[in-house]
Amino acid sequence: MAPPQARKITPRTQDFSEWYNDVVMQAELADYSPVRGCMVIRPHGYRIWELMQGALDDMFKATGHRNAYFPLFIPMSFLAKEAEHVAGFAKEVALVTHTRLKATGKPGAQAVMPDPASELEEPLVVRPTSETIIYAMFAKWIQSYRDLPLLLNQWCNIVRWEFRTRLFLRTTEFLWQEGHTAHATEAEAEAEARQMLGVYRRFQEEWMAMPVITGKKTESEKFAGALRTYALEALMQDNKALQAGTSHNLGQNFAKAFTVQYQTAAGGLEYVWNTSWGVSTRMIGGLVMTHSDDNGLVAPPKLAPVQVVIVPIWKSEEERSQVSGVGAQVKTELEHVGMRVELDLRDSLKPGAKYFEWEAKGVPLRLEIGPRDVAAGQAVAARRTGGKAPVKLAGLLAAVQGALNEIQTTLFKTAEQRREAHTIRGVTKQQFVDFMKGVGGFAFGGFCGSGECEAEIKQQTGATIRVLPDPEFRSPEVPKTCLWCGKPSVAEAVWGQAY
Ligand SMILES: [Zn+2]
Repeated sequence: MAPPQARKITPRTQDFSEWYNDVVMQAELADYSPVRGCMVIRPHGYRIWELMQGALDDMFKATGHRNAYFPLFIPMSFLAKEAEHVAGFAKEVALVTHTRLKATGKPGAQAVMPDPASELEEPLVVRPTSETIIYAMFAKWIQSYRDLPLLLNQWCNIVRWEFRTRLFLRTTEFLWQEGHTAHATEAEAEAEARQMLGVYRRFQEEWMAMPVITGKKTESEKFAGALRTYALEALMQDNKALQAGTSHNLGQNFAKAFTVQYQTAAGGLEYVWNTSWGVSTRMIGGLVMTHSDDNGLVAPPKLAPVQVVIVPIWKSEEERSQVSGVGAQVKTELEHVGMRVELDLRDSLKPGAKYFEWEAKGVPLRLEIGPRDVAAGQAVAARRTGGKAPVKLAGLLAAVQGALNEIQTTLFKTAEQRREAHTIRGVTKQQFVDFMKGVGGFAFGGFCGSGECEAEIKQQTGATIRVLPDPEFRSPEVPKTCLWCGKPSVAEAVWGQAY
């Protein structure tokens, strides 16, 4: 195997997609699997997911939601009950048609085949999302207005058939959470869908340090079966938009399909109003593409699997015992307040090789401790985002906490400045076309509301409306005409080329 220094990461400017793969592979976040379209999430990547789950789960519980678990398999007929829903997912579902194999007597891979006698009367769909199975259960559990609101969340895996794998961004199987709620009124469902969009925004900004634009999807981009879809959109370093999460007001569409009704206080019978909302392991791809550089992963401290790595430096055995002793003390001190710390005492690697490896893995802060540092009562703190300075061992904890906070804040600001530098507003049709054919980014402009304009823009520039932005993201000056056709604008829109 080549020494670590020899494993180069393709520079972003050369090939962004290769760069992304290199970063993911070298940080050991994920790997390709023997199953086409599927990925393996490795421990370093799964730890990021666990940290994401922990933070989100706390936020879900703080807003009154409880976790539950529903089956992986959904009877095929359930999907057919909501017309738009089945149309939206029909082309990407995995089906289970048999329940056992039988021996053929042939050698090798042909030694078994599906037993024809075990064919299911009704095939089962592997969940592409769980609205249908969950609302079938809601119909059983909800009787009266006293049972509302019902606020559930499920952490699980999802299967949507894909032939082109992009680690974390597009895979046949992925991990996510899906919130599903039922409410007595449309206003309550709308408030819930908006509230969860806000929870996602807070998580993505404060934890992922990833700035997002929130807003409503157009009719052509909304979720199959929803009344309204809200989304969060982030701009990656290649100026492509990543949809980082969605929250849907499902109206009464599923309630009617699955007869989810409740008795009102006055004694009448009404259909409930549903919402569903989800974020997935795709966010890990977003985190990578928002912050990382040509040396590898840059992880925001709040979600970094390892926040601080201590690298002792020694030549003699005596020095080794001295610096590793100080290193162990520092580790204990930092871990005591819940920090995620590694002490790298490997004899097989030189310090430079260790730096290289931990940089590729995105560790925000490295503490180098050599014999001279021990004598001076200090360590040298090197930030993953640049900058190196000595810190006194007395008061180290506060200095490390301060540095991690600063890195977290700076990552967000840098990403926000990058997004703003690649955002245009108030442009002509030609400027818009040139922008999308050139470096790309977010383009704000008026939209007439016509699906034809949307289709034409997509066909000619590859850009789609990411969202009709929420008020806080809109331009100071309201666009009066459609950026494409010049007819009166009904809403400002944000266009971008999406993942
Ligand atoms: Zn138009």
